[in-house]
Amino acid sequence: MTYTSRDASRYYGIDAWGQGYFGVNGRGNLTVHPQRDERRIDIFGLLGRLKRHKVRFPLLLRFPQILASRVHELFDAFDSAVREFHYDGTYRGVFPIKVNQNADVVSAIVHAGRGRNLGLEAGSKAELAIALTHDLDEGAIVVCNGYKDEEYVRLALRGCQLGYKVFLIIEKPPEAELIAKVSKQMGVEPYIGIRTRLQSRGSGMWEKSTGSAAKFGLTTQELLDALETLTRHGLESRFQLLHFHAGSQITEIRRIKSAVREGARIYAKLRSEGYPLEYLDVGGGLGVDYDGSNTSYEASMNYTVREYANDVVYIVDEICGAENVPVPTLVSESGRALTAYHAVLISEVGGRNAEEPSGEDIMVPADAHDTVKELHEIWLGMHQKNHREFFHDAEAKREELLKNFDLGFLSLRDRALGERLIGHVRRRTVAFAKEQRFVPDEFIELEKNLVTKYIANFSVFQSIPDHWALDQLFPVVPIHRLGEKPTVAATLCDVTCDSYGEIDEFVDPLEKRTSLNMHELQKGKPYYIAVALIGAYQDVLGDYHNLFGRVDEAHVVVGKNGAARIVKAVPGDEAHEVLELFGHKQDEMVAAVRARADALVAARKLTRAKAKQAVAYFAESLDGYTYLNFR
Ligand SMILES: *Cc1c(COP(=O)(O)O)cnc(C)c1O
Repeated sequence: MTYTSRDASRYYGIDAWGQGYFGVNGRGNLTVHPQRDERRIDIFGLLGRLKRHKVRFPLLLRFPQILASRVHELFDAFDSAVREFHYDGTYRGVFPIKVNQNADVVSAIVHAGRGRNLGLEAGSKAELAIALTHDLDEGAIVVCNGYKDEEYVRLALRGCQLGYKVFLIIEKPPEAELIAKVSKQMGVEPYIGIRTRLQSRGSGMWEKSTGSAAKFGLTTQELLDALETLTRHGLESRFQLLHFHAGSQITEIRRIKSAVREGARIYAKLRSEGYPLEYLDVGGGLGVDYDGSNTSYEASMNYTVREYANDVVYIVDEICGAENVPVPTLVSESGRALTAYHAVLISEVGGRNAEEPSGEDIMVPADAHDTVKELHEIWLGMHQKNHREFFHDAEAKREELLKNFDLGFLSLRDRALGERLIGHVRRRTVAFAKEQRFVPDEFIELEKNLVTKYIANFSVFQSIPDHWALDQLFPVVPIHRLGEKPTVAATLCDVTCDSYGEIDEFVDPLEKRTSLNMHELQKGKPYYIAVALIGAYQDVLGDYHNLFGRVDEAHVVVGKNGAARIVKAVPGDEAHEVLELFGHKQDEMVAAVRARADALVAARKLTRAKAKQAVAYFAESLDGYTYLNFR
């Protein structure tokens, strides 16, 4: 049976996690479908053009049309739920800026939401500053979450003066007094919201952000106290929004339903007590199916955007009906679901860890140490029936080998031969074990340790920090050769000097996958892989481990005729920019090297010409890209 791109699509799960945005074409290349239609972008086919824009690897590709598509999917889902359930209110989404603060990303989302009353959510003064520079629709709101000081409150009220409807959300009890004080000083009527702490918990890795031990939100008593404070200042009619947030990447729909039920009930009770609440903000948490399994597993979600919107609208409607209060304008703060799909990291695999071709005999000289000779005998005598026993013998010999080396009885040559033979025995053991019906646990573990390591030009810490911090999974897939059977089971190591800088768990719809089948590397030909779905949190959380900086970026759209267009290329950090972040000044560094060279010249230890060359090279290297150049 020949291997086709359809097999690749199944193996890498492209249709499952790609959600219509990714596919494979007849040439065996990964494609992106920014509008989820037949117009697709062949990423590998685009590389030549990208190089003409002087972009280097690793490279972050952004697809602004995917952002627009996500915005419309979310708003459409709520609009149709509103129609279907005859909901007597509307939906106003706000984009939480912290999920991706990149200026182009925020602009693309605001642009897509124009005419649909899309608003923005800020968690700090700097994020609020971003929100206040965007032209929003008349009906859009700006939501200010996060802990607040006087300046934050003041900036929000200035926003009101500038004509924005900026809600200050009380996250901690003292903020009620603070808002009252500052708004009185400034003579600006504030829009006030309160974040309530639900008893319902989220699910998945963000479970901690909700429930009674959460960092944010008022308990029921605190909520009542805050209302008293607001009333004392005559601000009770300014309390118009009730907010909750049940955590991010909520994997189970039942958790969402119970949070919405609890939040809607609190809204209804407040409303029937006479507070003129107008908005119910259900926060973020709408998930992304990173592994495409459609389950409640951490990397997945067991519901769709449509089901999410339907449940929110239906439950709020039902509870307001039961409590006989008007329904609120619904607000949600989905960030991950809007941005995850739009960004893909492309990295070049530059090589692999050294590995001996299995199965070739190793010449053992007659004067080699006895332990080495015995290992050789074991390797030669192995077959299917004795492989387990012989493996254990070889492991015992390994101990002996190390002991003899420690005692000084073994030459370096013999140590090398012994190590190679042990590698041979282990690999042959795994091969035999895999032919058995049941593979013992010890051999599964052994195989994991023997797996090939592909070395790719990127930094886990800069480009997918959640892989390191939270073991979060992201789909990894070669961008070409998808019509060829991938025969090398490998993990993916980055170029940092950190053993955590490795992707060793991969998405799989059914099980834990600890290696990914990739293609044999070909001499002189580059091999590129993509890490997909990294547009939420990743490209803005990145850190500078080993001073690998921000990567080059290109923004790509597909035109009406189906042709791909590179609309923007953004160079990544140069070495001096990253160095300056940590206090190393470019001119001082060059001056230091020059002083050293001059001293050597004065002492006649270096010629003037060589000194000049060395200083020039050093200065030039500070203008270089921080990543490797495998070409
Ligand atoms: C982080 C955050 C969000 C965004 O959550 P997603 O799960 O990415 O949609 C929304 N609201 C608040 C208050 C947050 O802290």
